[in-house]
Amino acid sequence: MNVIFFGPPAAGKGTQAKIIQQQYGLQQLSTGDMLREEIAAGTELGKKAKHLMDQGKLVPDKVVIDMIAKRLDSPECAKGVIFDGFPRTVAQAEALDALLAERGKKIDIVMELDVDQDKIIERMKKRAAEEGRSDDNVEALKIRLQQYNDYSAKVLPYYRAQGAVPKINGNKPVEGVTAQITDILAGKVSAPLQVSSGA
Ligand code: ADP
Repeated sequence: MNVIFFGPPAAGKGTQAKIIQQQYGLQQLSTGDMLREEIAAGTELGKKAKHLMDQGKLVPDKVVIDMIAKRLDSPECAKGVIFDGFPRTVAQAEALDALLAERGKKIDIVMELDVDQDKIIERMKKRAAEEGRSDDNVEALKIRLQQYNDYSAKVLPYYRAQGAVPKINGNKPVEGVTAQITDILAGKVSAPLQVSSGA
């Protein structure tokens, strides 16, 4: 099963993806996390990406598409993937569809995490204090929200043309958001693919 978590910056996609990864045995693929790993490793790609990320701008489509393409065939992805922060443009969505089709796979469900703007700012500030991400500041967030509206919001109509895109109320506490997601996934699979041993 391949799932996309879609939503504005700091909406909680990564938090939910990690929980669902545990419960369902799906692999989270976060392009943001992959880019931060490149930065931490000091690669050329990381250096170029950091400059754009710090400003809140998107990195080029090809960069993230290539990163995803490289991971899709890894054994962790065998049961399926939760795409988090990807695709962010229609070009990325088209490329993802093509990559999956080449492998006889497809996106099974796209969920939209809907979060109020004041909550987004609140969460971004909390994350800034906890993680110290260099793009978690009000200036960069303004650009990130603008990029979301200019590019990413156009990805929703792309997927709506392929099927229903359920909306999740992302303003609720973490467990309340997870409950909505698992309800939707329950309609897609009869039982969790892998029952969580933890919490
Ligand atoms: P958030 O979901 O909080 O916005 P991410 O960790 O997903 O944070 O992304 C951080 C930054 O990484 C983005 O602002 C952008 O610069 C870059 N990035 C991540 N994913 C993509 C993508 N799919 N396409 C282009 N840029 C991306």
